[in-house]
Amino acid sequence: MEFTENLSENRKSAEERASVLANPGFGDFFTDHTAVIDWTADAQGHNGQWHDARIEPYGPISMDPAASVLHYGQEIFEGLKAYRHEDGSVWTFRPHANAARLNKSAARLALPQLDEEAFVESLRKLVAADIDWVPTGDGEALYLRPFMIATEAFLGVRAAREVSYRVIASPAGNYFGGELKPVAIWVSQQYARAGRGGTGSAKCGGNYAASLVAQLEAEEHGCKQVLFLDPFNDNAVEELGGMNVFFVTKDNKLVTPALTGTILEGVTRSSVIQLAKDRGLEVEERKITLDEWRDGVASGDIAEVFACGTAAVITPIGVLKNGEELIGDENAKAGEVTMSIREELLGIQRGTVEDRHGWLERLV
Ligand SMILES: *Cc1c(COP(=O)(O)O)cnc(C)c1O
Repeated sequence: MEFTENLSENRKSAEERASVLANPGFGDFFTDHTAVIDWTADAQGHNGQWHDARIEPYGPISMDPAASVLHYGQEIFEGLKAYRHEDGSVWTFRPHANAARLNKSAARLALPQLDEEAFVESLRKLVAADIDWVPTGDGEALYLRPFMIATEAFLGVRAAREVSYRVIASPAGNYFGGELKPVAIWVSQQYARAGRGGTGSAKCGGNYAASLVAQLEAEEHGCKQVLFLDPFNDNAVEELGGMNVFFVTKDNKLVTPALTGTILEGVTRSSVIQLAKDRGLEVEERKITLDEWRDGVASGDIAEVFACGTAAVITPIGVLKNGEELIGDENAKAGEVTMSIREELLGIQRGTVEDRHGWLERLV
């Protein structure tokens, strides 16, 4: 796909950029450009075409107040990072996996399929325009946020016939800030994130909207994140609001909830599984209940617990708060297997560990 370029005449100054890059945080600052591709359906609304691929200055989106995304939430998104290597080149990690997942989400939300090459090209063009925004600090990256929204002005309930795909970018530091300490997680007893046949395995904004009340509850109880269970399936562990969960047993086996359709298939999750298998560790994707977590921690069978996702990479979980009950140790140290897999994954991404699986793709 050919992108036209309308580069910004209003870029942030070098000083402003330097001050953002000195302390990027997560998701608070945005680069100077955005990538856009529009889609319009045919007269029957069944097929359609992507058109007007372009790079344009970052800024507000002008949209009709009746645009269906604003009413019915027909929206999906992705998240991946661009990493600067020692020689100045910029790479991303498994972008075709994100492109494929975007299309899976699109199918579930009745949004159009986007060619995987167009997806990767949109990242390449945006990062090329905003190359000065890719941080150079250790553990830092440029977070890329592709998303797709229904822009048609129409209040009837049906799949929109006008859609826009966009990518924005935001320099990112360490997601949870500061040193890597195990986090406390809150168990949501009242709210589920997803149900059978629902949208749990699609990366859509609606899932996050539904998780926020539980996230607030978590924060009120001093926790960084919330764990969702499946209350109709023996309180099987599902995932956090935006991260998958892994357990390391005392005999060095990795256990993670199986993909049942209600959890999101993380690219980090699948990479961790591969790296563990490469080390000869056994990996089980299966049902694991809250009871098994509690008993495993008590007996010592579960030695480490961690969460993983693109934004925070791999984050050790110290304690699980289930109402008044504490499972685990608030002052636990990060586990050895957790940290070793984390280092390997970060090393591959920053180009200091051999990329055996060809996961990196050069952007610029
Ligand atoms: C994006 C996301 C993840 C993590 O996926 P990665 O591809 O590893 O970043 C996990 N759970 C949910 C609900 C998500 O939206």
